[in-house]
Amino acid sequence: MPEKPSESQTLKPAAVAGMPRAQDLGRMAMAKIAALAIEPTPQIYELWFRYFQGDPEIKAAIDAHAGVLDETACYKFYKRFLSETARGDAIRTISDHIQQAISDLAHTIDSVKSMTSDYGGSLNGVSEKIRNAATLEDLGEAVSAIVEDTRMMLEKNQSLEFELTNSSTQVAELKKNLDNVRKEALTDGLTGLSNRKAFDKQIRDWIDDADAGGGKLCLVMIDIDHFKSFNDTYGHQVGDQVLRLVARTLVDGIKGGDFAARFGGEEFAIILPNTPLSGAERVADSLRRAVENKEVVNKSNNKSLGRITFSGGIAEYVQGESIASLIDRADAALYAAKHSGRNRIKSAGP
Ligand code: GH3
Ligand code: MG
Ligand code: MG
Repeated sequence: MPEKPSESQTLKPAAVAGMPRAQDLGRMAMAKIAALAIEPTPQIYELWFRYFQGDPEIKAAIDAHAGVLDETACYKFYKRFLSETARGDAIRTISDHIQQAISDLAHTIDSVKSMTSDYGGSLNGVSEKIRNAATLEDLGEAVSAIVEDTRMMLEKNQSLEFELTNSSTQVAELKKNLDNVRKEALTDGLTGLSNRKAFDKQIRDWIDDADAGGGKLCLVMIDIDHFKSFNDTYGHQVGDQVLRLVARTLVDGIKGGDFAARFGGEEFAIILPNTPLSGAERVADSLRRAVENKEVVNKSNNKSLGRITFSGGIAEYVQGESIASLIDRADAALYAAKHSGRNRIKSAGP
C-alpha cells in the first residue's frame, strides 16, 4: 500500500513521488552494511546512503566493482566520491538518520507489544475452546492451535528480538562513530591539538563572552624559529616529531581553562581567557623557556639534534575589535619578535 507522504516529508527532496524516503534509504544502507559485515561508520553509512539514493557515479562504480566489497573497498569509494569537504554535510545527514533509526526502533517495540497482545487474545480463544471441548478431537484441535500459535509467537519474537538488538547496536555504533568524526573534524591529525577550525570557533565564543562580561582576553601567536632549515637538515619526519614535541610542551604548560591550537604549518595559537597582558606575557615566556629547554632527540637513532626555539607575539583583546584585527596585532608582535632576534616574546600595542 503506497504511503501518504506526511507534511514534513513533502518538504524534503527525497520525498518526490516514486523516490524512496530518507528513512527507507537509511534502512537499506544499514541492512547493506550489516550484510557486508562492515563496521557502520558515518563514512560507510554515507556511502551506502548515497548509493541507494541513486548517486550515478557511486552507483556505477560500486556496481562495476568486481572484487569483494570489504571495508577497504568501501573506504576507497568514500574517498573517491565523498571528499573531506562533504564531512559537514555527512554529519548533519547522519544525525538526522540516527534520529530516524531511533524512531524506527520505537516502532519495532510497538509491534512487539501489539503482537504480544494478539497472542494473549488467541490464548483466550483457545482456553474458551478447551472449556467447551466436547470430544477428544476438539481438545486435540485446541491444543494443536495453541502449539502452533506459540511456535509462531516464538519465531516472530526471535526475529524481532534479532532485529531490535541488531538495529540498536548499529545505532549505538553509528552514534559513537559520529562523535569521533565530530572530534576528528576539530583536531589536528599530526599533533592532536585543536585545529584551525576549532580555534576559529573558540575565539569567537570567548570574544563574545569578553564583550558580554567585560573580561580580559589575550591571544598568543607562536612560530617555530628557523624551522625550514631544521626540516631541510633532518627531514620532514623529524620535523613532524618536533611539531608534536612543541604541541605537547604547550599543552603541558597552560592551565586547563586556556586553549591551544595548531594554527597552521609550524604556527600555534594560544587563547588565554580572563587574562590581562602582563599575565599572558608570563605564560608565553614560560612556554618559550620550556620549549627552549627541551632537547630534540632523533627517535630513530637516539641522537641529540640540539634545541628548538620559538618566537611569540601577544595581543590583548580590545573591546569591539574584530577577530581579524586581534590576530593581525598578535602577528605583528610576532614579526617584531622575529626581527629583533627570535626566541623571544613581544606584545602588541593596542
Ligand atoms: P622563521 O624563524 O622566520 O619562522 O623561519 P622558518 O624557517 O621557521 O619559517 P618559514 O615560514 O620559512 O618555514 C616554515 C617551515 O615549516 C616550512 C615547512 O617546511 C615547515 N613546515 C610547515 N608545516 C610542516 C609540517 O606539517 N611538518 C613539517 N615537518 N614541517 C612543516
Ligand atoms: Mg611560519
Ligand atoms: Mg617559523
